[in-house]
This record gives sequence, C-alpha cells and structure tokens, in this order.
Amino acid sequence: MNIGFIGLGTMGEPMATRLVQAGFALTVFDLNSDAVDRLSALGAHRATSAEDVASKTEIVFVSLPTPDVVQVVALGANGVVHGSKVRVYIDLSTTGPQIAKRVSSKLAEHRILALDCPVSGGAAGAAKGTLALMVSGPTTAFDEVAPTLSMLGKAIYCGEGAGLGQTMKLVNNLVSVTTLAVSCEALVMGVKAGLDPKVMLNVFNAGSGRNSATVDKLPRAVLPRTFDFGFSTALSLKDTRLCLDEAEAMGIPMPVGSAVRQMLNMTRAAYGDSADFTRMICVLEQWAGIEVPLVSEV
Ligand code: NAD
Repeated sequence: MNIGFIGLGTMGEPMATRLVQAGFALTVFDLNSDAVDRLSALGAHRATSAEDVASKTEIVFVSLPTPDVVQVVALGANGVVHGSKVRVYIDLSTTGPQIAKRVSSKLAEHRILALDCPVSGGAAGAAKGTLALMVSGPTTAFDEVAPTLSMLGKAIYCGEGAGLGQTMKLVNNLVSVTTLAVSCEALVMGVKAGLDPKVMLNVFNAGSGRNSATVDKLPRAVLPRTFDFGFSTALSLKDTRLCLDEAEAMGIPMPVGSAVRQMLNMTRAAYGDSADFTRMICVLEQWAGIEVPLVSEV
C-alpha cells in the first residue's frame, strides 16, 4: 500500500522508518532535508510538498509540532487538502480537539476522511512500535488503517467524534506531567529531611505512591541526573496549555493542572524550551536549597 508521511522529527522519523522497513511504499516530506535524506536512504520516495505527498498516496500520516503547522500542512496553499489521490488523513500530532474538528470538517468537504491519532510513548516507543495510539474519526477509515497502525503500536479507538482522540491524549499527558511534578516535590522534600532517594523510590513503587514518574521518569532521567527522558518542556507546556484552554472553554476549572502549568513555565524560564521536562526538579531543588544526590543505578 502507498503511504505518505509528513513530518520526520523526533516522533515521525522512527515511525516512518518502521513503516518503510515493514515494506510499505512510503512517500515522505519534511522541511528538514536531512531527515528526508535518511528516509530516502532506506528506500522512501521524496515529495516536494504536502500536496505532492497527497497526490501520490491514498493514506497520509502527519506528525507535526503545533496546531498552526498542522493547519497549514493540512489546509494551506500546498496542503494535503489539494492532493489528487489522498482518501484518508491521519494526524499523529498532539494539537488539541479544536484543530482536529476544523481540519476534519474541511477535509470532509473534499471527500477525505480524517482520523485524529495522537500517540503516547515517546521516541523510544516510536522506534520499538510500542506506542499507544488514541484514535477517533470514521470507523470505516479506522478499520482500513488499523493493520498499518499496528506497526506503530496499540491503537485504541476512542469514538467517532473528531477530536476525541486529541482530548484523550491531552488528559493523559496532564496526568503524566502532574504525577512528575508532585513526585519531584516529594523527592526534594524527602531528601532535605534526610531520606535516601533510592529508598524513597523503592517505597513509592511498593506502595500507593506508585505512578509513571516513580516507575519510569525518575529512575531513568532524574536520579541519574541525565534529564534526557525525551520530552521537551516546550512540548509538555503546549500539551498542558491545550488541555487547560479546552477545559476553560468547557467551563471546567482545573486548579491542579494550572499549578503544573506554572511549574512548566518556571522550568522553561530557567532552562529553555528544549530542556527535558524532567528538569523541573532543578527548580524545586533551588527553592529547597538542596540537590537530590546522583543515583546511577536504581
Ligand atoms: P519535532 O519538532 O521533533 O518534529 C516535527 C517535524 O515537523 C520536524 O522534522 C519539522 O521539520 C517538521 N515540520 C515542521 N513544519 C513543517 C511543515 N510545514 N511541513 C513539513 N514538515 C514540517 O516534534 P516531535 O517531537 O516529533 O513531535 C511531533 C508531534 O508529536 C507533536 O505534536 C508532539 O506534541 C507529539 N508528541 C511528541 C512526543 C515526544 O516525545 N517528542 C510524544 C508524543 C507526542
């Protein structure tokens, strides 16, 4: 099957690589020619624009950084909407439900079915094909692409409504970053009180404090002080902002999420957009006047 793939970044490149290595005929486009060169070396065909991809392939995946970019790539002057061949458009990016609804309704006018399909699992999950994919949109389109999605990970169908997959992704990421923030707070307080960080993690993971930060993010990227979990502060802030904006539009206060958003803002102010979001513990350490000691093996 001919497949198009637009956006070969941290997530898109390993996903596109898996598809080409699985034997799909892939046509790719990215503004970054180095990424295109790497896919081309594996056997993918190059396209000159998003429209070109959508004129050469029936199924088009996009994995792009922000809602604005998705809108331009999907609906802009040289966008997917103008492609002559595309039938199904699948957005793997995290862009929020509003953009998914707008893009889906515009594409429907051109008889293109849209699935929103944000992913969770990071670059490592993208490379291994173990992502969680939160899919929403027409069931006919989902049934058709389900075997392809299975190359990328586990696809969980969230409903027919455009944007439901995006909403699921936003709340999932809010839970993930919130558990990171509170686990970092707890670790800093415990260490200042005299607890050993390794002992603290053992207790959390044997007890009711267990969560995705204590099981994965802290042992992998915080205690070894590598701060390289693979998710930037800017992207985490974008996801949190999208979630809170959506909740506000629905009239739902989210005070805990708002506090976490400020933690991310402070981390970004101190360490920059590209700093890993696990860096947030360094902000807390400064307030506490201590540093959690390095633990290389947890
Ligand atoms: P990234 O910035 O690494 O990659 C985005 C790619 O899009 C880049 O290669 C860039 O050159 C390309 N691009 C930008 N504008 C373009 C355009 N107009 N036309 C064609 N290509 C264009 O981002 P990423 O980390 O791969 O994330 C992609 C999406 O997946 C984001 O929405 C992000 O929130 C989401 N996501 C990321 C992670 C993660 O761990 N990085 C995890 C889950 C979901």
